Amino acid sequence: MEKQKVPFITPELTVEELTQALYDTSLRLQHTNQELLQSQKEQQEIFTNVSHDLRSPITAIRNSVEYLLSSEKLDEVETNNILQIVLRRIDFLEQLINDVFLLTSIDSTQKTFSFEPINIGMLLEDFFFTCCEDRNYSACKLDLNVPAHFPYQVLADGKMLVRVLDNLFTNALKYSDGDLTITLSACTIDNTTIKITVSDTGMGIAKDHIEKIFNRTYMVANSRTPSTATGCGLGLSIAKSIIEKHNGQIWCESDLGKGSEFSFSLPIIENN
Ligand code: ADP
Repeated sequence: MEKQKVPFITPELTVEELTQALYDTSLRLQHTNQELLQSQKEQQEIFTNVSHDLRSPITAIRNSVEYLLSSEKLDEVETNNILQIVLRRIDFLEQLINDVFLLTSIDSTQKTFSFEPINIGMLLEDFFFTCCEDRNYSACKLDLNVPAHFPYQVLADGKMLVRVLDNLFTNALKYSDGDLTITLSACTIDNTTIKITVSDTGMGIAKDHIEKIFNRTYMVANSRTPSTATGCGLGLSIAKSIIEKHNGQIWCESDLGKGSEFSFSLPIIENN
């Protein structure tokens, strides 16, 4: 049986309104398409960089193991040194794999965040005192600048916020040479938002790099080899994704040679 044609009925809309609606829709489509292309490009870059980053530690591990197997008379100290190298490379590989997994799972919303009301002052103090006991920070000065009475609650995944703080503290340590002070501070903006800042007296970041450091795959150092124990360039983009999932923002201010200040904001849910 022949299908009946249904007339295109638009009782309320004029031709001009329809044309405008069509135009708006095509703009939105164009925008979505651009976002998709950008995301595809980023995925491709991550893939290329990760493949590159995987290669050098694997080569180092292979060389070390081959050396261990072929050398007949290695004493205990030499053997230990080589095994330490292997262990460091394995740590790097593990971090890289965890970072890639976390980033892609946040993006594809596979990662379920466990949001709950959290007293942010307590979370910051807990984190700070854990760092004070951490041997990695024993050579630097740690300062806490959170008001004694800071009763603000945020809706957050505590573990994820600690992940962000941990990344900012680790970077402060990594990108410093000489005397280092890391300060963790918090304050409120307009009684609706909390601003948390991790500042350091490290090497700082040049102005033209600052806007790029939150991009996936961006590292200020040109070399992507992990030999100097640098990371894999995913840490700040993971931090950004986590903070955005909390309806917050993250940004950086820095003076080359003097230090950096990384801040993020979180909406307050309850003001006691
Ligand atoms: P990475 O794994 O390279 O540390 P991140 O995403 O954490 O990746 O950081 C991106 C880049 O931003 C780093 O390669 C480094 O050059 C720069 N950076 C991050 N934090 C700091 C800091 N506290 N001081 C100076 N440079 C920093």
